[in-house]
Amino acid sequence: MDFDLTEEQKALQQTVRDFAAAEVAPGAKERDEQARFPHELIPKLARLGLFGMMVPQVYEGAGLDGVSAAVIIEEIARADAAVALIVASHNSLCAGHICNFGTETQKRKYLVSLARGEKLGAWALTEPGSGSDAGSLKTRARPAGDSWVIDGEKLFTTQGSTAGVYVILASTDPSLGSRGISAFIVERETPGLIVVRVENKLGVRASDTAQLRLESVRVPQENLLGELNHAFKDALSILHGGRIGVGAIAVGIARAALEEATRYAKERKQFGKAIAEFEAIQWMIADMATEIDAARLLVRRAAYLRDQGRPFKRAASEAKLFASEVAVKATNRAIQIHGGYGYVKDHPVERYFRDAKFCEIGEGTSEMQRLVIARELLR
Ligand SMILES: Cc1cc2nc3c(=O)[nH]c(=O)nc-3n(C[C@H](O)[C@H](O)[C@H](O)COP(=O)(O)OP(=O)(O)OC[C@H]3O[C@@H](n4cnc5c(N)ncnc54)[C@H](O)[C@@H]3O)c2cc1C
Repeated sequence: MDFDLTEEQKALQQTVRDFAAAEVAPGAKERDEQARFPHELIPKLARLGLFGMMVPQVYEGAGLDGVSAAVIIEEIARADAAVALIVASHNSLCAGHICNFGTETQKRKYLVSLARGEKLGAWALTEPGSGSDAGSLKTRARPAGDSWVIDGEKLFTTQGSTAGVYVILASTDPSLGSRGISAFIVERETPGLIVVRVENKLGVRASDTAQLRLESVRVPQENLLGELNHAFKDALSILHGGRIGVGAIAVGIARAALEEATRYAKERKQFGKAIAEFEAIQWMIADMATEIDAARLLVRRAAYLRDQGRPFKRAASEAKLFASEVAVKATNRAIQIHGGYGYVKDHPVERYFRDAKFCEIGEGTSEMQRLVIARELLR
């Protein structure tokens, strides 16, 4: 068993770490406060190849393995989890769905511009009435000549107002329930694709989470993505991969909290000595470090299994579940170590805490991860 990254992965990690420190971290506080989407960072992230991380080179992606992608996402999340969410969701959800299930024509037409970062990708499954129970979605696509016409509502769509390409999940045969769901590629300019509002969120505030309405959105027949009525299964497999990315975001946030807490504990003096000298603080730091290491190992194991073409569904859920809860705990402890200073916005740890909470909800709540894990064990 080899716990080391390859030389290539280490070099990539250093490149992204340097980039994140120089370009992503400096504006994170201001973007969070203003809930401002980082438009200026998109071309820079694109130049690094981060919008087509696992897209094959033939479609102008970086053709990276999943472990490398997890390493990259952790580094970006260390600087700003909102930016990491943009990168992770674009790659694993929208680009991933087209890459895994698209036709050659669809890949040439959409995947290349997504991989180049010319267009951002969104992936819309969740609706006002269907979240964890995603198979009960109500958005409807009806055949109309050589087109499909889509009507419905989508909620919490990441890149919902900034994407150029959307993958929309819709029912094509309500009588079949979740077995009657199909996916469609919808371009931003398509008439009837309406951004209802952009959400004002607790955390990952610089990411764009929007509610959408689809009013007679007409797409050509050839924009059906994957097999007719097969998209729910496809979407679940996309989510299994996406969960590794959310796990990596959680590890990045938790590491940021640990690094801040360690630095602060050495600097802050009470009772005539650095608070790092108190055992209570040392234990918190030790627990944070141990749990973060364990979370990272779970994330990389899930990515490794996926890279090997082996089953990784349970591993991905375990990684996402554990890493998310570790991130919430670690960021909570980081605030505790900062005392009152952790509770105000001059220090970044309160942002880390708010950002971490997203990881327990997005791409399947912790409860749903437990359900996936238990089902795998009990079947
Ligand atoms: C910032 C952000 C970005 C997002 N981005 C996207 C995106 O790009 N695309 C997209 O499609 N969706 C996106 N989502 C939606 C996200 O996937 C859902 O919010 C999530 O799956 C939960 O659904 P819900 O919010 O409807 O909660 P609900 O499903 O209503 O859950 C409410 C509570 O009930 C629990 N619960 C539900 N069912 C069960 C059960 N069977 N057993 C035990 N407990 C249960 C849940 O765990 C939760 O605690 C995003 C969400 C957020 C917050």
